Amino acid sequence: MSALEPEAVVEGVVRLPLATTTLPPFRHTNAYLLAADGVGLVVDPGAGEDHVLGAFDAALDSLGVRLVKGIVLTHTHRDHVGGVDTLQQRYPDLTVWAPAGELARCEPRWRAVGLRHGRRLMLGSAVLTAIGTPGHSLDHLSLWWSQLRLLVAGDLVAGEGSMWVGLPDGDVAVYLDSLARAAALDPLLVAPAHGPVRRDGAAVLHTARAHRLQREAELLTTLRDGPASLPRLREALYPEVPEATRDFAERSILAHLLKLMRERRVAHLGDGPDGPYALV
Ligand SMILES: [Zn+2]
Repeated sequence: MSALEPEAVVEGVVRLPLATTTLPPFRHTNAYLLAADGVGLVVDPGAGEDHVLGAFDAALDSLGVRLVKGIVLTHTHRDHVGGVDTLQQRYPDLTVWAPAGELARCEPRWRAVGLRHGRRLMLGSAVLTAIGTPGHSLDHLSLWWSQLRLLVAGDLVAGEGSMWVGLPDGDVAVYLDSLARAAALDPLLVAPAHGPVRRDGAAVLHTARAHRLQREAELLTTLRDGPASLPRLREALYPEVPEATRDFAERSILAHLLKLMRERRVAHLGDGPDGPYALV
């Protein structure tokens, strides 16, 4: 597995797409290297093999980084943290910041420090702000660089296609709120962990929201024909999904059903997660 070409996103920001084991159709997780005044920060290092470390070094060099201050994890899914150990060995003084609500999922040896919504991180003379954007994971954070109007978005959205929101970590209602919170920042650039950087402002955030509501509408339409089991709903909503990812499709539908049940629009019949489910 090799690292793809680094991309200079804007002055002070490089995207490094790293080959990771992640949810199809994606095959890479973007690490972002942020730099100001010779100080660097790495966001979501998903891999850290020897040749990847070389790519990190080259990219940090291209940014004029003299000091790697830390690593920020947007969340703790495996495809975002694979390079933490090797980077920490290479730069022993760096701090690992992770969402406060996901510290329990960090390796104790990282000595990770909890980040919460609104917390500011200095990078040289630049100021980055942690923005709480949960929904894809329990306590997912994005990073906002206001001078650049850049949102480093982790798995809040994907550069192309949609991001998976499913049980047990996912929460659709919370996710929709997070998209609105991120859109309210009015970003120019949205830098996701999977797929290309988006340069069309908040469009990708609005599209993600519309897509999620569209799925919900499809779910309700299917249920209008009568109670349906989870596999039946999956066939209706994701007819093309290959066997290997059926479980992910069903866990995504369950996250929607959970929202609709909380809103008392759908009821769960039967006794297991397979339902059936019915309109209220
Ligand atoms: Zn994730």
